Amino acid sequence: MKLKYLGTAAAEGFPALFCNCKYCEEARKLGGKNIRTRSQSLVNDDLLIDFPADTYHHFLTHGIEGDRIKYLLITHAHSDHLYPTDLYNRHGCYAHNMRAPELEVFCSGYSASRIGEPKNVRVNVIKPFEAFEFGTYRVTALPARHMPGGEPLFYVIENSGKTLLYAHDTGCFFDEVFDFIEKNHFRFDMLSLDCTNVDIAIPDTGSHMGFSNINRVVEKLSSISAIDNNTVICINHFSHNGNPLHDHLLGRASEYGYLVSYDGFEVEF
Ligand SMILES: [Zn+2]
Ligand SMILES: [Zn+2]
Ligand SMILES: [Zn+2]
Repeated sequence: MKLKYLGTAAAEGFPALFCNCKYCEEARKLGGKNIRTRSQSLVNDDLLIDFPADTYHHFLTHGIEGDRIKYLLITHAHSDHLYPTDLYNRHGCYAHNMRAPELEVFCSGYSASRIGEPKNVRVNVIKPFEAFEFGTYRVTALPARHMPGGEPLFYVIENSGKTLLYAHDTGCFFDEVFDFIEKNHFRFDMLSLDCTNVDIAIPDTGSHMGFSNINRVVEKLSSISAIDNNTVICINHFSHNGNPLHDHLLGRASEYGYLVSYDGFEVEF
């Protein structure tokens, strides 16, 4: 399976849209991997995860032919993950000769209510702890500790014998999630974990994570044999407040053996 990160910042982007803090100032100066757009990833060549306003920019930057995308998983309705307006660009007069004539979207009922009924889009409502299949994928939705009332989800994605846990946005996983993972004997080849806060302390009941929370999640997953030494662990979704300058994150993550995402980073596992 191939995972390509297209956008790796939290909602405000990095450098943040209107911010002049020292980290944002430095990011503007350095450019490159320090420029982080809003959250989106591509699995293989046909499954998109999340749909922020930066989708258009991602398609242009990475040469993605949007009309070929068949499937879209939405984690939750925060604007850095779902910008429904652009789905309406699939209407007839805006999108000719699409090679995937219908985009299959999978999301919670709440996210579906934000999307409405754009043309050439089929919205499938999914529930936490339920698995569903499409194309060559089997996906299981898990409830995220995030966005109260907004039915946020994160996903176990299985394809060609590999299993990815894509956990954005969420705080430390609910106990029921760990129980479910254990009961279903999931074994993850890759984890992509929310590291919004980086080194800023946040309780395990918070709606995002930083290194210390991630370390506890990793320890717990290891204790239930959901991961082992071969599991690739990548941190992603960074806020400017925690200092997401790439070299800084690389230094911190290397202490634990984690990879650090950046816009355009591709992992094959
Ligand atoms: Zn987010
Ligand atoms: Zn800033
Ligand atoms: Zn969010």
